[in-house]
Amino acid sequence: MTNGSEKPYYLYLHVSFCRSVCGYCDFCHTVYREEAADRWLAAVAKEITEKKIRKDLLTVYIGGGTPTALNVGQLDRLLTLIDPYSQSCIEYTAEINPETLTDEKAVILRRHRVNRASVGMQTGDEHLLRLLGRRHTMADTVRTVEILRNHGIDNISLDLMYSLPQQTMDTFCSSLEEAVRLNPSHLSLYSLTIEENTVFHRKGYEHLDDDTEADMYEAAVRILAEHGYHQYETANFCLPQKESVHNSAYWNYMDFYGISCGASGKENHRRYDHTRSLRQYIEDPSAVEYTDLLPDDEKFEMIMMGLRLKRGMDLNLYKERFGEPAEARFGRALAKMKEQKMLEEHDGYLRATDRGFEILNEILVEFLDG
Ligand code: SF4
Repeated sequence: MTNGSEKPYYLYLHVSFCRSVCGYCDFCHTVYREEAADRWLAAVAKEITEKKIRKDLLTVYIGGGTPTALNVGQLDRLLTLIDPYSQSCIEYTAEINPETLTDEKAVILRRHRVNRASVGMQTGDEHLLRLLGRRHTMADTVRTVEILRNHGIDNISLDLMYSLPQQTMDTFCSSLEEAVRLNPSHLSLYSLTIEENTVFHRKGYEHLDDDTEADMYEAAVRILAEHGYHQYETANFCLPQKESVHNSAYWNYMDFYGISCGASGKENHRRYDHTRSLRQYIEDPSAVEYTDLLPDDEKFEMIMMGLRLKRGMDLNLYKERFGEPAEARFGRALAKMKEQKMLEEHDGYLRATDRGFEILNEILVEFLDG
């Protein structure tokens, strides 16, 4: 599972389409049309063939956009394209928006060995769901979880948002409780960011003030812990042994394939980005923009990603990758942060202390200077 000249064991595939565009989203601007999705599928097939992906992937993550915005036949065709590579996957995740899942689609997911679902609940508050421009209700989320379980997909993650305009601590905590009642194995928290080119930006919406946002985050950590969910990453919580294997690969700075319009990947000391234009992608699905990653970039990024994990960054893996211990590049920062009790070594990992975890960005600034 090391980086280097080996091909990646992890694959991300981005589905460009959504049934509608949410008010805060600057990511998806492609509303589903059957004929466009057919042409996109043909392009994905071409890219996958040209990419010569390894057949023994450990994880596949179908994200978006909204993978389940595709119709039943298209979803089947997409997952059939992945079949040759997913036979030995230990985790195969599909993102799902509650209004788009049907029994038929769940059958397709399961038939192609999808064993984990990431469901975009966002909030249990109906008023906020409408404000966000989401097309679903909380009842749809409940029904989606039921459908998934009925079809044998019981490793379920729920996405929740906080710091939303008009959201109160009470409504946020109620949403958390509603989420927990669904007994998911995993939860991801996202604070709202208002990007330009979104309906929210045009309407002048703002997220909540920093103090309230921090209070909501703290409340989430506390409430989720009370229900047995441990925080294993800055924004991710799970029941024992239910950490996301795929996302952990990112945090452990593994290489990964990125397939399709809007996707990024990392292979062999290069990051690559696909165009976000559906038209350009369909014209040339293998065209990507490469960014070379210099050794110093990679060393910093591995620290930056690894410290997001509560367990921390694997010091042996760092040494194996770069042929030197972390002290060789970051001796000053490490000594200073350890002395200030912001970082510590534990079981071969470099991790943030509880105090350090609260100011990760400030710690990383120290590492920028070496
Ligand atoms: S479903 Fe997700 S990707 Fe699609 S518009 Fe909404 S936030 Fe964006």
